[in-house]
Amino acid sequence: MLSGKAAIVTGSTSGIGLGIARALARQGANILLNGFGEPDRIDALRADMAAEYGVGVVHSPADVSRPADVAGMIAQCAESFGSVDILVNNAGIQHTSTVEAFPGEKWEKILAVDLSSAFYGAKAALPHMRRNGWGRIVNIASAHGLVASATKAAYVAAKHGLIGLTKVIALETARSPITCNAICPGWVLTPLVEKQIDDAAARDGIPREAAKAGLLAEKQPSAEFATPEQIGSTTVFLCSPAADQIRGASISVDGGWTAQ
Ligand code: NAD
Repeated sequence: MLSGKAAIVTGSTSGIGLGIARALARQGANILLNGFGEPDRIDALRADMAAEYGVGVVHSPADVSRPADVAGMIAQCAESFGSVDILVNNAGIQHTSTVEAFPGEKWEKILAVDLSSAFYGAKAALPHMRRNGWGRIVNIASAHGLVASATKAAYVAAKHGLIGLTKVIALETARSPITCNAICPGWVLTPLVEKQIDDAAARDGIPREAAKAGLLAEKQPSAEFATPEQIGSTTVFLCSPAADQIRGASISVDGGWTAQ
């Protein structure tokens, strides 16, 4: 379905981003991977994906908290594949602490990675999409883009902001074949959440499995994690013709978290 398209997935060396990159590659899209990690591991990942899906795969080491890096990453995609058709703004970081104790530099960093990077990415990618007459921007927000939790000030503010940005881009592209939407995952078992499970286990002096069950019981009525594959499939759906008139939407994949 996406044969010959060029897709950028930020933060795709791990977790949800990797699931999205694989799902898009399975549909035939060439992939620009982005994110941190051991160079050898990233090289192997690149080669494996290229062999498995028969598509082009390149990696950008851009730090998406830096606007110039984001612009360079978009240019690299256009140089490598001749276009920028799909931009998935997925890179995200977390820090938990009360507002009074929240370090200012953590606030600035989370806003830069989880929110501003999507603005700079869209700003640089939209001219390519307008030139080609087709485009998809998918912003990976969170249940925390729709509702809040204590101790997550920067993350909740950034994700709510990302949903607002999604709506604005959708309106500015409404008369074109370019769409912009957000996906709002609930708990997905990735390194980002593993750390929160470890923290909860240490804080409460309980086994890891109990901390994991507690995390789900607190927020996610299905009592099951969503998976990177499910977020990947939802992204593919948003890139399909069925989604041509889905614009400015936030699609929850959260096991019922925000139905409560
Ligand atoms: P993860 O920690 O597994 O992966 C994050 C990725 O982002 C990694 O590839 C990392 O290298 C990359 N990254 C981090 N900082 C970066 C930077 N400055 N520049 C470039 N790349 C950077 O996290 P994840 O759980 O897969 O999260 C992916 C997205 O999904 C995030 O936006 C997160 O907020 C969102 N999300 C996750 C969950 C969850 O339960 N895991 C729930 C809702 C939303």
